[in-house]
Amino acid sequence: MRSFLIEEIKLIGVLALQGNFQSHLEILNKIGKTSKEIKFSKELDEVEGLIIPGGESTTIFNLLNREKNFVSEIKSFADSFPILGTCAGLILMSQLKNDKIVKSLDIIDALIERNAYGRQINSFSASIQLKNNLFQERLIRGSFIRAPKIISYGESTEPFAFFQNEVVGVKSGKHFGITFHPEIFKETFIHEICFN
Ligand code: GLN
Repeated sequence: MRSFLIEEIKLIGVLALQGNFQSHLEILNKIGKTSKEIKFSKELDEVEGLIIPGGESTTIFNLLNREKNFVSEIKSFADSFPILGTCAGLILMSQLKNDKIVKSLDIIDALIERNAYGRQINSFSASIQLKNNLFQERLIRGSFIRAPKIISYGESTEPFAFFQNEVVGVKSGKHFGITFHPEIFKETFIHEICFN
């Protein structure tokens, strides 16, 4: 049973099984949200939003599956609360091209190709243009670290982040998925719009 004493202060969870979860806790703190590391599905009962961070999608997927109902609990959490997936997080939330290791949580209708820019050595940082009718157009910085590419997306999915001619961020209902890491540059805007 959920009960929230102070409605305005949202408690946001950050999946803390592997990867870059610490920086997301810091960003949430910076934008005035309280946050909580999520290591077990029952901890989802306490939060009103979730970040699935970057890291290694195969590892996060395997760790999620140590607990029998973790994947299905995240899927039903997604019916009511927003989820932001960065990089490996987006990979887990979407459908995958030619990938038999990770099975999608099917939260965002987009087709993703892992490691699409090459290996670790091909990682780079860039300016990313954010554009959507919900907010004023702006540029933010982000790092593409063994990043995936969004190959295509369905009708229920809207692009909102662009790098050169590529779509690098999509919104699907209340959920956001991005192929890059804004948290490395302490960029807060995407967290703000996702968990406002
Ligand atoms: N290449 C990683 C994967 O496939 C994602 C990298 C990242 O999250 N920065 O999971």
